Amino acid sequence: MAKPVVDYDLCIGCGSCAELCPEVFEMRDDKAWVIGPDKCNTCDCEEAVNACPESAIKLE
Ligand code: SF4
Repeated sequence: MAKPVVDYDLCIGCGSCAELCPEVFEMRDDKAWVIGPDKCNTCDCEEAVNACPESAIKLE
């Protein structure tokens, strides 16, 4: 399964990903941290990828 990775140069800390998937993303110091890379069992994190306004979330 693909795992989400956040590009910290692009992340503006909007919090959308953490709001959408709190088991996968957590806000720390105004950046999104991937705390549960394999916790998404619904959409393979596609929703968070699509919700990110800066395209900072990649699936690897
Ligand atoms: S949705 Fe994108 S810009 Fe917003 S906190 Fe998450 S990774 Fe950062």
